[in-house]
Amino acid sequence: MFHIGCHLSPSAGFLAMGQTAKSMNASTFQFFTRNPRGSKAKAIDPEDAAALVAFMRENSFGPVVAHAPYTINPCSKDARTREFALQTMADDLVRMEHFPHNYYNFHPGSHTGLGTETGIALIAETLNTILRPEQTTTVLLETMAGKGTEIGGKFEELRAILDQVELCDHMGICLDTCHVNDGGYDIVNNLDSVLEEFDRVIGLEKLKAIHINDSLNPLGARKDRHAKIGAGHIGTEAFARIINHSALRHLPFVLETPNELPGYAAEIALLRGLRKN
Ligand code: FE
Ligand code: FE
Ligand code: ZN
Repeated sequence: MFHIGCHLSPSAGFLAMGQTAKSMNASTFQFFTRNPRGSKAKAIDPEDAAALVAFMRENSFGPVVAHAPYTINPCSKDARTREFALQTMADDLVRMEHFPHNYYNFHPGSHTGLGTETGIALIAETLNTILRPEQTTTVLLETMAGKGTEIGGKFEELRAILDQVELCDHMGICLDTCHVNDGGYDIVNNLDSVLEEFDRVIGLEKLKAIHINDSLNPLGARKDRHAKIGAGHIGTEAFARIINHSALRHLPFVLETPNELPGYAAEIALLRGLRKN
């Protein structure tokens, strides 16, 4: 099963997202848990949530990825910003249990001058406060481009966070192809060695999802500007290797390319065409 999909808006409801995904020949998708800038979340309609869960089962969907607002920062030097991140994530995790056994992805954060080590400790502290033994959701740290004081641009930083999280069984990693390219990992020419490095530092069993984006910038640029598939420095041939790689092919792939729905549908068709059985 090749689970490919794209980022969708939850504004028309949860079941509607599943139906939209299916209409695009997708079998997974991603959505923001609330306004990406991080305002108050709409109350969840439990019937709509249950309808999506049933729809996903009937249509053999893979796990879906809920994305935390990208403005939250659990390792800010500002204590109120950290507290806001903690409250937002704790609330999101309660809401995620309406969709059992899916993923909640977040950007680890930017240390804003505190230093990498302190930032890592603050992120782990937040996770240790909000994770619950009984939760079914796996929380994913996203690999980052390493711009500014961003944490997560190196596999070692993500490993260090995981090492400090008590309920590490509830944690995983989402690898963003644009971000790792910009972070200096050569997935175009050395995919095998990047994945070997990931396995050595973090462990491939922790890898749960892929954000499949081309990059407007070259290897190591530390920028984070997504491009359409084939319109950036990664290129279509590299994506063919990525979606077919034996260490990755079972994972859900989510597009976050600059597209409206028809553009996403075309990329899903393109990638399905490149997938080998
Ligand atoms: Fe992200
Ligand atoms: Fe991403
Ligand atoms: Zn990005």
